[in-house]
Amino acid sequence: MVDPDPRRLIPRTDSLLCHPRLRRASEEFSEHVIRAVIHGVQDRARHGELAPEGVEAEVLAEIESLRPSSLRRVINGTGVIVHTNLGRAPLSPSARKAVAEAAGYVDVEMDLKTGRRSRRGEGARRALLAACPAAEDVLVVNNGAAALALAAAALVGHGEIVLSRGELVEIGAGFRLPELIESTGVRVREVGATNRTHLDDYASALAPAAGSEVGAVLKVHPSNYRVTGFTSAVPVAELARLCREHSLPLIVDVGSGLLAPEPALPEEPDLATALTEGADLVIASGDKLLGGPQAGLLLGKSAIIAKLARHPLARAVRTDKLTLAALEATLTSAEVPVTRALQADPETLRDRTERFASQLGVEVVPHDGRVGGGGGAGVELPGYAVRLPAGAAAALRTAEPSILTRTRHADSLLDLRCVPEAEEATVLAVVRGVLTRLRSPGTDQA
Ligand SMILES: *Cc1c(COP(=O)(O)O)cnc(C)c1O
Repeated sequence: MVDPDPRRLIPRTDSLLCHPRLRRASEEFSEHVIRAVIHGVQDRARHGELAPEGVEAEVLAEIESLRPSSLRRVINGTGVIVHTNLGRAPLSPSARKAVAEAAGYVDVEMDLKTGRRSRRGEGARRALLAACPAAEDVLVVNNGAAALALAAAALVGHGEIVLSRGELVEIGAGFRLPELIESTGVRVREVGATNRTHLDDYASALAPAAGSEVGAVLKVHPSNYRVTGFTSAVPVAELARLCREHSLPLIVDVGSGLLAPEPALPEEPDLATALTEGADLVIASGDKLLGGPQAGLLLGKSAIIAKLARHPLARAVRTDKLTLAALEATLTSAEVPVTRALQADPETLRDRTERFASQLGVEVVPHDGRVGGGGGAGVELPGYAVRLPAGAAAALRTAEPSILTRTRHADSLLDLRCVPEAEEATVLAVVRGVLTRLRSPGTDQA
């Protein structure tokens, strides 16, 4: 007799859990994850979206595709080097190795010779000091924003911090640095105008007056925009002289994290120059042009760093051991991917792109690379891209591995600047597959 209700034929959870492949998966994934997959497939069968006989195969397919993290690897074919939506800087091979090694127990806060507690992250601290000898001492925190909040809270407290109106930066996702600073209880004393701020503007704010509570002067590099035309800003050296006269600290937020001047980005400030010109404390991110992990770097005078390290907020923005490992390895790496992409020679890029394109029968077009969220606002890095049909973008984005391209007019442009040479063969195979599907009629894409 035929069962009137096919839902009764849906395999039960317990019997599915006995399948050898599910038992193997349960050594890697928690039982609630595996049960959730089973229940999801059973539900679809109950709603008639799937035949009961197909349940087991579907459960097995979904279990096979489980990954420990939902984050997926993406190949950056956009030519945008520090891509905020793709996690900013990709780590160097040695930084990746250091992260893997630090994942277990490590001596992050212990001197193994004496068995005593040691200063946390001493290796990363030494590497930063070696990379930037202009600094007396350094402190590493969770990110650039945390570094700025800590500096304001520890050095200014309930007083005021002086900041030019041309430097009231919104860093992204609606977050504004002045609001971040004010959230610590520090008041921002704006000086100058949007396009022009002069030394006199700072001097009047610092002039002794009844009730004046200025605790520091802050200079912020506008990383993601440029004010052009009738403009003027006060150089670090002049501000430093003024601050010294008033015995006030000068904090410079350079944003990008360049250790030294970078010829490819002549207008980008760097940590060493800001310190040499007299900044008492400089702040930068670790995952922009430095090419390392997400981190906030604070470099400067020993007394100031000591004050920051003692502040209660320092503990709230403390760096994780994986970050410390990656940062130290980044600073000791021969070359990091960000620098390689930034300094890529246009002729070499053209040869590479032409070789790639000729294997697919597609065209090469000029395409400027960008620094992206890491700085270098408005800077165009001359380069090339492979021109693909518009329909390729979505297919490549959802491929395995995912490849992100740049859309220009009706084209999808694939720029090899940020694609490691070792991954070129993989990219070629994925693009070839996508183009074949787009070109052959009768498929869903045609
Ligand atoms: C990026 C940036 C920040 C914020 O740094 P995060 O590491 O993103 O927190 C602060 N100031 C400037 C000038 C920046 O460019």
